[in-house]
Amino acid sequence: MTAFAELVALCRRLESTPRRLEKLRLVADFLGRVADDEVATAVAFLGGRPFPASDPRVLGVRGLPEAAGPEGGEPLRLGDVAAAFAEVADASGPGSRRLREERLAALAARAGPAEAEILGRIVGGEMRTGVSDGLLLEAIAAASGADSATVRRAALFFGDAGAVATAWRQSGIDALGAVTPRLGTPLLPMLAEIAGDFEEVLAAHGGRTALEYKYDGARIQLHADGGRVAIWTRRLSDVTRSLPDVVEIARLHLTGTPLILDGEVVALDRAGRPLAFQELMRRFRRVHGVEAAAAEMPLALHFFDCLVREGRSLIDEPYARRWEALASVTGGRYLAERAIVTTVEEAQAFHARALAAGHEGVMAKDLASPYAPGSRGKRWFKLKVAETVDCLIVAADRGSGRRVGWLSNYHLAVRDGEGFAAVGKTFKGLTDRQFGEMTERLWTLALGDDGSTVRVRPAVVVEVEYNEIQRSPTYPSGLALRFARIARIRDDKAPGQATTLEELRALYERQFRRKGRAG
Ligand code: AMP
Repeated sequence: MTAFAELVALCRRLESTPRRLEKLRLVADFLGRVADDEVATAVAFLGGRPFPASDPRVLGVRGLPEAAGPEGGEPLRLGDVAAAFAEVADASGPGSRRLREERLAALAARAGPAEAEILGRIVGGEMRTGVSDGLLLEAIAAASGADSATVRRAALFFGDAGAVATAWRQSGIDALGAVTPRLGTPLLPMLAEIAGDFEEVLAAHGGRTALEYKYDGARIQLHADGGRVAIWTRRLSDVTRSLPDVVEIARLHLTGTPLILDGEVVALDRAGRPLAFQELMRRFRRVHGVEAAAAEMPLALHFFDCLVREGRSLIDEPYARRWEALASVTGGRYLAERAIVTTVEEAQAFHARALAAGHEGVMAKDLASPYAPGSRGKRWFKLKVAETVDCLIVAADRGSGRRVGWLSNYHLAVRDGEGFAAVGKTFKGLTDRQFGEMTERLWTLALGDDGSTVRVRPAVVVEVEYNEIQRSPTYPSGLALRFARIARIRDDKAPGQATTLEELRALYERQFRRKGRAG
């Protein structure tokens, strides 16, 4: 059992050394010392998170409240803090806010000043010790004796560093090297890069590519093992209970289990027309009345990949073979619309069909490519019509006039290494109700307030439509989004999945190529 004070002492030392190697050594030492059942908690806390990265629970409080009563009691252990956080996250219903505050105040009462300081940082989601997720993975490698590449790969299969550390402790480092997709453990989905045009796609894929409709829904990963079915979102939240209709389809119509499929669900209205993404998210969050919701808002299911069939991993097989497996386990139903093309003309015709059918655009996939969990590259491209990027809200201005009481002008940033680069502001795109909800949510993320602008922890991802990317003399990034407007709130994306400055630069360059004028 590790005392929380030990983690606090480690944080102090991490703060006082600027040297990355030294930090790495300190963290590795610590991870080597903590008990097997504490290691995931230690990794989460060191990363400035109350829960592991792949755990959807949140504390739902603004910060650590004042201690209730005098200090005292048994010294805090890592497990005590984790248990208190779990209770706070589980509190729901009327009066839950008070319950959460009380539970945290009781925790604070058991902490000395130094401990309370670090607790406050974990609750606030900002550790400020210079320990990135990358450093945590390296520290796990150093502590376990596995090589970094093995640990990084394992993290993609397990979803986060804490789970990798637990696997190392429970099954040893050989198990880390041998990871393949496991039924019951979701792996990070493969991602796509934005492509400007079909010339680029065909060149990258050797003159032949598989196009699929790009459905405007939500990514799901479905695991079926006999009658046992589980479904996760792209952020690896378990949504099985919210999707009884999908579970039913899997039970009745899929063969070749144990299997893992990757796909997209789209919500439909009663007339069978696709509904807005926000509606679908509402269904994902439902835990009560799910049957009624399923009847009211049926889902269309489009699978596009098969990662495991009959218990055998297919992720290193070429996509063409995985598609054959997919077609066989589904009997050809519930698939993404697809065509293999070799010319720009054929590609454009398929693209036009996708748009005419009301979809966002198309995906282009390299027929020879393996499935690379969690990685974004040229094996999968996306081609959309409206240009959008995924930004993080890093601050918000207090509204005036009709918007008094709301935080209504959002400062948008893209990712830049471990930090963030501001690229624009917008007060467009949200409904009044969404403004209200967003205001409440941003207050829980507040880091500072100068009276007009509230700085927040970059945790909310929004898909931002823009008209053009411009050079900017004011933003240090050098780029700004012109006519930015929030297209939707992307609660299905983690902050780490927002667009990067590098990607934005590439989009900037491409925009000139496409418009046929010089940058
Ligand atoms: P984006 O969210 O813009 O990065 O686009 C990638 C997302 O498109 C994926 O994560 C899926 O949720 C979604 N998508 C829709 N149709 C497909 C498809 N046929 N293949 C892969 N992803 C798809």
